[in-house]
Amino acid sequence: MPAGAGGGRRRVLILGGTTEARRLAAVLAEDPALRVTSSLAGRVAEPRLPAGDVRIGGFGGPAGLADWLRAERVDALVDATHPFAEVMSHNAALAAAGTGVPLLALRRPGWAPVEGDRWHPVGSLADAAAALPALGLRVFLTTGRQGLAAFAHLDGLHFLARSVDAPGPPLPAHCEVLLDRGPFTLDGERAVLREHRIDVLVTKDSGGAATAAKLTAARELGLPVVIVRRPAPPAGVRVAEDVAEAARWAAGTAPGG
Ligand code: NAP
Repeated sequence: MPAGAGGGRRRVLILGGTTEARRLAAVLAEDPALRVTSSLAGRVAEPRLPAGDVRIGGFGGPAGLADWLRAERVDALVDATHPFAEVMSHNAALAAAGTGVPLLALRRPGWAPVEGDRWHPVGSLADAAAALPALGLRVFLTTGRQGLAAFAHLDGLHFLARSVDAPGPPLPAHCEVLLDRGPFTLDGERAVLREHRIDVLVTKDSGGAATAAKLTAARELGLPVVIVRRPAPPAGVRVAEDVAEAARWAAGTAPGG
């Protein structure tokens, strides 16, 4: 694989916005043979910045991303976005196919229920909203500020919505906002559920350790959890589940990388 426009170094673009993307950038930035750039959508006002170069903001769809890959002579593209960042992952697959730049999706595994869990898997935020009235009255919503509109019509329920930045309308009529950013501890999650007298939790199946404590806390209290299943990655895209594997692939040292 020829080195790109990185001063003779192999050029890697990471589509980021996750803990794993930051970890990957930290590993790759240590390698003098690589020049790594992380891309963030710009959704969070004060993002945690990864090591290496950072660019912020959309590319302008798959064509804009393809232009960027060509202009920067990118050798390897890693889609390390959140498992629910479906549009960006789809755009990455299209841009990679159009430019011939090799693509790897880094996806942490989803969560799995254990004994004592009362999970209600659903296919979308709309389905989560439809399931709620039968499950509880005081809802802890941890699906992020962008998804709150799906619950805005549920006037009879009380919501505690946790997000990094303040959400905008439309919001449910009875909605308290808790501004916070993970990782979250088990003690902290127990306290949130108790103090707000939560009787049902809503989450996406994001996976990972940073936000898993709420599931343990809900299990301990016997609370139902509405869990939104994650979308499948785009067809035909190679997937790595851990940062070390993605780092080997991005550095060009993995078999088939
Ligand atoms: P999305 O719906 O899949 O993407 C919408 C648009 O945002 C994309 O078309 C792209 O704009 C831009 N975009 C998304 N990720 C980008 C990136 N890493 N770099 C540059 N542009 C990006 O994305 P989303 O669900 O809103 O997520 C946005 C970001 O937040 C992602 O980076 C993701 O990793 C992170 N995040 C998402 C969630 C979640 O639950 N969805 C949770 C935690 C973190 P253009 O078409 O103009 O290129």
